[in-house]
Amino acid sequence: MAGTLYIAATPIGNLEDLTFRAARILGEVDVIACEDTRQTAKLLAHLSLHKPLVAIHEHNERERAAELAARLAAGESIALVSDAGTPLISDPGYRLIEAAIEAGILVVPIPGPCAAITALSASGLPTDAFYFGGFLAPKRSQRRKQLDALRLLPATLIFYEAPHRILDTLEDIRALYAERRITVARELTKLHEEFLRGTAAGILGELARRPALKGEFTLLIAKAAEAPADERPLEEAIAALEAEGMGRMEAIKHAARLRGLSKREVYGTLMKK
Ligand code: SAM
Repeated sequence: MAGTLYIAATPIGNLEDLTFRAARILGEVDVIACEDTRQTAKLLAHLSLHKPLVAIHEHNERERAAELAARLAAGESIALVSDAGTPLISDPGYRLIEAAIEAGILVVPIPGPCAAITALSASGLPTDAFYFGGFLAPKRSQRRKQLDALRLLPATLIFYEAPHRILDTLEDIRALYAERRITVARELTKLHEEFLRGTAAGILGELARRPALKGEFTLLIAKAAEAPADERPLEEAIAALEAEGMGRMEAIKHAARLRGLSKREVYGTLMKK
């Protein structure tokens, strides 16, 4: 009989967040497929478990998926875990699940921690609809395009970000989402857990005062306000943005975005005055 593939969530910081069910499954399976064997070995040591580990990551996922699917077909049971949180959520495993489904293997999720959902639940931002964007592009121009494309989505936006890029990404959010409420969730479930809530400008000011930015960050942006459309004449709206400290070009771009117009259309309207 074929084995079962378990997708087991593990803690994102606090070991007490491992579920009873995940602990039992990790003890019962034949093999554990994981990202970094050293990281998973620590979790197993905490549970006093000894299990064969197979590393599966970005660079070997295709081959490993085929090997593991064959082992499952031969009757072994496997648990897939990642270094932290829920496998496949900005983590490896997609090809393994695909291969297992293709081979007719039973795939069973073992739910547990996920930084995106943990951050959302305490963010103070609307939770009725949300969009999870994983990691934004490392290049600023691409990142701004990605952020801009989500401007009209009626959902709280959630992103993961690395500590060395957090200030740059917050700058982009300030440029594109100046008026929105945002939440920065840092070190969730750990000793130094904190939530910074406010505008991107306010949070940037707070973080820029710190000597170093350490830890893990999840960023959330409130959905587009359901406020009535800005009905002021365009020139007046641009002047107001300039009075808030934006340069003329930035104010024109911003006003265009808010009204769903192209820059050319905004210039056209201004020229007619
Ligand atoms: N699979 C994981 C999950 O379910 O959340 C996410 C893995 S992804 C490679 C790692 C990113 O998740 C980090 O760079 C950070 O943005 C976010 N993250 C993970 N743990 C976190 C924590 N304790 N606090 C805040 N963000 C966290």
